[in-house]
Amino acid sequence: MKRSLKIEQHAQSKAQRLLAQAHALGLLLKASVVRRRFRCGKPNCHCAHGKRHQDLIVCRLVRDKTQTIRVRTGREPEALQWQKNWKKFNRLVEKLTTEEIRILSLPKDKTNVRYRRRG
Ligand SMILES: [Zn+2]
Repeated sequence: MKRSLKIEQHAQSKAQRLLAQAHALGLLLKASVVRRRFRCGKPNCHCAHGKRHQDLIVCRLVRDKTQTIRVRTGREPEALQWQKNWKKFNRLVEKLTTEEIRILSLPKDKTNVRYRRRG
């Protein structure tokens, strides 16, 4: 087998594994997730003198405007997990691109049936 074909097959199978990992990630949140600490303003509340309240804010840019929402109580783990998934997804896409660049820089092997055009 030609060396370039071997390299291509290796890159192709690595790319398939990366795609499978990306697919298995689940939901992706392409946004900033920020923990916010605040005082509610009620004079008798504990936050006035001690520990502040905290919530989770999700921000993203939509057509050059920042969309900001407060994550509903109980949904914080989802927001954090989905954002983590997005970061993992980006790393996988980087690795996938590396394999694609590797493949594209190899000579096209006409004997490789898998990539031959039909018709
Ligand atoms: Zn308060």
